[in-house]
Amino acid sequence: MICVRNLSKSFNGQAVLKGIDLDIAPGEVLAIIGPSGSGKTTLLRCLNLLEQPDGGSIQFGDIRIDASRPLKQQQRQVRQLRQQVGFVFQNFNLFPHRTALENVIEGPVVVKKEARATAIERGRQLLAKVGLAGKENAYPRRLSGGQQQRVAIARALAMQPEVILFDEPTSALDPELVGEVLATIRGLAEENRTLVIVTHEMSFARDVANRAIFIDGGVIVEQGEARALFGAPQHERTRQFLRKFL
Ligand code: ADP
Repeated sequence: MICVRNLSKSFNGQAVLKGIDLDIAPGEVLAIIGPSGSGKTTLLRCLNLLEQPDGGSIQFGDIRIDASRPLKQQQRQVRQLRQQVGFVFQNFNLFPHRTALENVIEGPVVVKKEARATAIERGRQLLAKVGLAGKENAYPRRLSGGQQQRVAIARALAMQPEVILFDEPTSALDPELVGEVLATIRGLAEENRTLVIVTHEMSFARDVANRAIFIDGGVIVEQGEARALFGAPQHERTRQFLRKFL
C-alpha cells in the first residue's frame, strides 16, 4: 500500500532520516520504536508530507511523490495522499473553539464537501464508537486528555482514510488516561485497519502490531514481525533499547 524508498531529511544540515526504505501492506499494524531524537516523528510527518523530505520517494497506491522535487509542483498528489492518510498528533491538535462534533465533521464538510447532515450523522456514530456518546457538544477544554485524543481519532476516521498514522498518541496523557486511548487504537487494529504507530508503549506495540521497526540515528536498524523483534531482537542496539522497557 505504501512504499517508501531512500527517504532522507535534514534539519539545519543535520541528517535526521538517512535513506529510509519501508513497505506497509494493507491491514498491517506497524509499530515504530526507537530512542528519543532518532527520527520517528520526522519519518511519520514525512509520510504525510507535513514535512517536506529532501530526497527519495513515497508511493501510495497509484499516487507517487518524488521527494526531491518541491511539493508545490506536486500539489495534486499531495492533496490526494493527505486525504487518504489520517494523522493523530501527540497533542491532539483539536480546534479549541469547536465542539467535539464540530471537530469531527470539519474535514468531511470542508475538505470532502460532504453534506453537513450526513457528516453530522456519521460524526455522532464515530464519537459513540470511541466511547464519547453524549460528549458531542463539549468543547475540548471540558474534556480530559484521553477524551480529547479519542475525539482526534474520531476526526481522523471521519475522513475515511486508507491508513492512520499515530505520533506518540499517549505520551501527552496522564498515566491513568493512557489505557482508554490504547484500547481505542487496539479496537481499530482488530478491524484490520492499516495503522502506523510511533510509540513508547512497548507492551502495547508487541501485542497489537504485526510488524515493528526499530530506528536509531535516522536509520532502520532492525525490522520484522513484532513478536520476533520484541521477543528475540537480532541487533545489540535493539536489545539495549528494549531492555529498558520490557
Ligand atoms: P523522535 O520522534 O524519534 O524523538 P524526531 O523525529 O522528533 O525524533 O527528531 C529527530 C531529530 O530532528 C532531533 O534531533 C530533533 O531535534 C530534530 N528535529 C525535528 N524536527 C525539527 C525541526 N522542525 N527543526 C529542527 N530540528 C528538528
